[in-house]
Amino acid sequence: MKTSLNYVMSGLALLSTQSCVSNKEVVQTEQPNLIYVFPDQYRNQAMEFWGQEGFSDKVNFKADPVHTPNLNDFARQSVVLTSAMSNCPLSSPHRGMLLTGMYPNKSGIPLNCNSSRPISSLREDATCVSDVFSQAGYDCAYFGKLHADFPLPNDPESPGKYVESRWPAWDAYTPAERRHGFNYWYSYGTFDEHKNPHYWDTDGKKHEPKEWSPLHEAKQVIKYLKNEGGERDEKKPFFIMVGMNPPHSPYRTLEDCEEQDYNLYKDKPLSELLVRPNAGVDMKKAASAPFYFASVTGVDRAFGQILAALKELGLEKNTIVVFASDHGETMCSQWTNDPKNSPYSESMNIPFLVRYPDVLKPRVDNFIMSAPDIMPTLLGLCGLGQQIPEEVQGRNLAPLFMDANAKMVRPDAALYIQNLDGEKDENGLVKTYFPSSRGIKTQDYTLALYIDKKTKQLKKSLLFKDSEDPYQLKNLPLEENKEVVKELCTRMGAMLKEIDDPWFQQNILSDLVTY
Ligand code: CA
Repeated sequence: MKTSLNYVMSGLALLSTQSCVSNKEVVQTEQPNLIYVFPDQYRNQAMEFWGQEGFSDKVNFKADPVHTPNLNDFARQSVVLTSAMSNCPLSSPHRGMLLTGMYPNKSGIPLNCNSSRPISSLREDATCVSDVFSQAGYDCAYFGKLHADFPLPNDPESPGKYVESRWPAWDAYTPAERRHGFNYWYSYGTFDEHKNPHYWDTDGKKHEPKEWSPLHEAKQVIKYLKNEGGERDEKKPFFIMVGMNPPHSPYRTLEDCEEQDYNLYKDKPLSELLVRPNAGVDMKKAASAPFYFASVTGVDRAFGQILAALKELGLEKNTIVVFASDHGETMCSQWTNDPKNSPYSESMNIPFLVRYPDVLKPRVDNFIMSAPDIMPTLLGLCGLGQQIPEEVQGRNLAPLFMDANAKMVRPDAALYIQNLDGEKDENGLVKTYFPSSRGIKTQDYTLALYIDKKTKQLKKSLLFKDSEDPYQLKNLPLEENKEVVKELCTRMGAMLKEIDDPWFQQNILSDLVTY
């Protein structure tokens, strides 16, 4: 499954290391740098360019009425995917897939991480994307939200205590031995006071900057890039991940976003903000829409500041920049209050834009990328395809980013995965996880099957013909679509078998799903 681009890429990387005009002499490394920016709960539809020429004819949905000027420009310099999927569209499980290139049943993170779920934490023995970059001689830096660790009572300021007092604790401090090759650290577990964020640095010192978190993180990234304080070794290429929290909830007040961004949306009627025909404009949550879109615009500005710094420092040409997200946000679509964890396109479809000047020719592509593909693809783009660990389940799609006609199978399906808490012990600690739903997303259809916790029999199904019903308004009965269901279940069964999923192991719904 793994394709190496090593020789091609190393040659191209050399070609793209020509020095640029700058007021400071820039050391260009032979291998490309990479910056991966992924805000939280940022849906693919919330990018303005999808409504613009060159993009609107590539998708069958309306763009949200958002202002994203920096992403609009960036998209025109990038390979932009219409169909990148967060297979298990929830914070920690996505981050596990992103970091390890493995599905939630192998990454160590089947459930959102908190102190009641010791079975859900990034595997310490997994070779993460940052481990590989580090071993290949990169400086690796992590900024922002991680949310991939089981919180431990290891507060650097109060040893023996969790970093927060509520139970279960969600926020976490990640000590050096659990940083997987990241040698520069400015991060936290999960915390939702967007204008009062906190971070622990490389040495475990806590910082509380009282600044809207995406803008603060952009500032910290720029400081790292400028390297005025010796943050990095300029002779080494760098790999940076930036996990921004907004546009994550809450989005209720000006405590959650910047006023200048809110002013762009505050006077618009909700019907002009929630333009998707599947949106419940009358829902209580609809009042969040102007704050959500304001957060999107603020994230766009923070992202633009990082791009501007790269340009100013002469690092633009030799730095691959990716913009993505951990999952989407339903924002009243499908009349649900649950923003994520569902197979709806607003929840599962994430932004995925990759810019690599002079190497990737800008275009829009519709191959279906799965979250575990991201890690091997990032390594492939940097010429490290040979270093992808054997255990990785995702595919190195770098050849497809390089060339739409590359001689490899174009992925055209993605799994959907939902897990819930299983058995608990006498202290309320979760001991197992219950694989409540599995599904498949293809170019034409979305199918999700839900099972009953006790009987493990089919409880509910969702089947949409997305190619004709992009807003997923009509749930097709399985009985009336037997041929389609059979085809989808055959593909899904083969994919679940390939990843050694619990549904395959336990032969779940084997009357319907072919393993
Ligand atoms: Ca999340």
